[in-house]
Amino acid sequence: MTWALVPAAGSGRRFGGDVPKQYLQAAGKPLIEHALAALLSHPGIDGVVVALAADDARWPGWTRLHGKPVVTCIGGGERADSVLAALHALPVDVANDELLLVHDAARPNLRGTDITALIDAAQACADGAILAAPVRDTLKRADAGNRIAGTEPRDGLWRALTPQAFRRDLLLRALEHARSHGLVATDEAMAVERLGLHPVLVEGREDNLKVTTPADLALAEILLANPT
Ligand code: C5P
Repeated sequence: MTWALVPAAGSGRRFGGDVPKQYLQAAGKPLIEHALAALLSHPGIDGVVVALAADDARWPGWTRLHGKPVVTCIGGGERADSVLAALHALPVDVANDELLLVHDAARPNLRGTDITALIDAAQACADGAILAAPVRDTLKRADAGNRIAGTEPRDGLWRALTPQAFRRDLLLRALEHARSHGLVATDEAMAVERLGLHPVLVEGREDNLKVTTPADLALAEILLANPT
């Protein structure tokens, strides 16, 4: 029983006016619908829990998609709070040592081959696994005036993507530990790392993009309309 947790409670109003970015449309559907379809059409995933904002009036009310259960809960103020809420909303028959995948609602272009590689890696590594992509650009550090203060070596640097996969009990322990230590974890792996553990990096597709800017949305539109 591998379930996916989808934090979708961010207001995300960085562009697009009043519409939270997970509800922006690309290729005829909201981004979150693409994300849920990618997860639920994979044979290894049994259901999803979606964490919604308390005032979300756009959620279409799905309780099943692709023949699998869709459970909802109310998210929290930080992404980690939303993931914790989703953990608590899991059905009771999801065992403590089951693998869970956490995936951003605003990442619509997830492919099944990446899900399979991630699940395989997380089953082989007790500390969990995340999809990630090596940094390709040269990295500059800025000073206060946006002048270049230096160039950072990019060797060994990766961009963390989602999904990120951990056993249920480890994810709960990591997020509760982070919360009790005042750590704001920007991804789940960061909370797991704080326990002294080392999740494995699984090289994923570069086009598994998180929509944050209008340019990302334009790119998502092209990618979703022309699957490769
Ligand atoms: O803001 P950012 O792009 O990092 O958000 C990543 C994901 O986390 C989005 O799907 C967003 O809806 C979700 N999120 C959430 N609860 C929050 C903040 C972000 O579910 N409080």
